[in-house]
Amino acid sequence: MRDGDGDWIVSGQKVWTSLAHKARWAMLLTRTDPDLPKHQGLTYFFLDMTSPGVEVRPLRQATGQAEFNEVFLTDVRIPDAYRAGDVGQGWAVSNTTLMNERVAIGGAAAAREADAIGAVARMWRDRPELRTPGLHDRLLRAWVECEVARLGNERIRQQLAAGAPGPEGSAAKIAYARLNQDVTRLWLELTGEDGLGYDDWTMRRSELGQAALGARAAGYYYLRAKGNSIEGGTSEVLRNVIADRVLNLPREPRTDTKVAWKEIPR
Ligand SMILES: Cc1cc2nc3c(=O)[nH]c(=O)nc-3n(C[C@H](O)[C@H](O)[C@H](O)COP(=O)(O)OP(=O)(O)OC[C@H]3O[C@@H](n4cnc5c(N)ncnc54)[C@H](O)[C@@H]3O)c2cc1C
Repeated sequence: MRDGDGDWIVSGQKVWTSLAHKARWAMLLTRTDPDLPKHQGLTYFFLDMTSPGVEVRPLRQATGQAEFNEVFLTDVRIPDAYRAGDVGQGWAVSNTTLMNERVAIGGAAAAREADAIGAVARMWRDRPELRTPGLHDRLLRAWVECEVARLGNERIRQQLAAGAPGPEGSAAKIAYARLNQDVTRLWLELTGEDGLGYDDWTMRRSELGQAALGARAAGYYYLRAKGNSIEGGTSEVLRNVIADRVLNLPREPRTDTKVAWKEIPR
């Protein structure tokens, strides 16, 4: 809704907003016209988190940490000057930010063995009593796959430096999610009985998102990795992006793209 000055009055609820408890600014995609189909009628804003009517409540994750939050907006006034893109063009703006987010999650620059695979490889080298032939085979495969992903990400970042990221970022993000889940599971198995206990269940309000490597025991990284295939777009949805935009496969039949958003059953 707009007021007489052309500013926006926004109400609603948003779950899973990472680091909202630390953020001064948020990116807000909001439905400004429910009479249009769902990909239209969306508008994108920068939201000042100190605005009256913004309430942030912690959501605790499987790890025990509350990295993200529910955010409630009650009649929050957003100046029109904080709009990114045209009214109704929010979907296009958010596609750009989402593609950048996927590269940030899946395609970050990292030195060899800087990630979880390094922690597993170091444990393998330092604790020969934990080794079994089956784990050896899995570690080698995971190590090679992590290295292929790491080097592939170099190329994506070069493309990014030359312009906007393409759907390759979706592939990098899927690969990262699967590998990080495999590697952290391997890490937990390698730790044997030690891995069965959880190091600390205190609820923490993290400062920077997930804990840095080495700050927690293997169980934390195993549980945290579960979210990797959800955050920044689920692996299933990213496979659809690749099917549509890279492989040009026929799209799945959809019945809701031309219907007014308010008419879609939910
Ligand atoms: C650690 C973490 C941090 C997050 N941080 C943020 C944040 O800061 N800001 C934010 O906005 N969100 C954040 N999220 C939320 C995240 O972006 C969403 O949960 C995610 O995009 C999935 O959307 P959804 O929960 O609405 O699930 P849905 O879209 O309802 O999906 C439910 C299930 O159906 C599947 N599905 C849905 N559509 C299709 C389809 N067309 N084809 C095949 N399968 C499909 C999905 O893969 C999933 O398994 C975070 C999530 C996590 C885990």
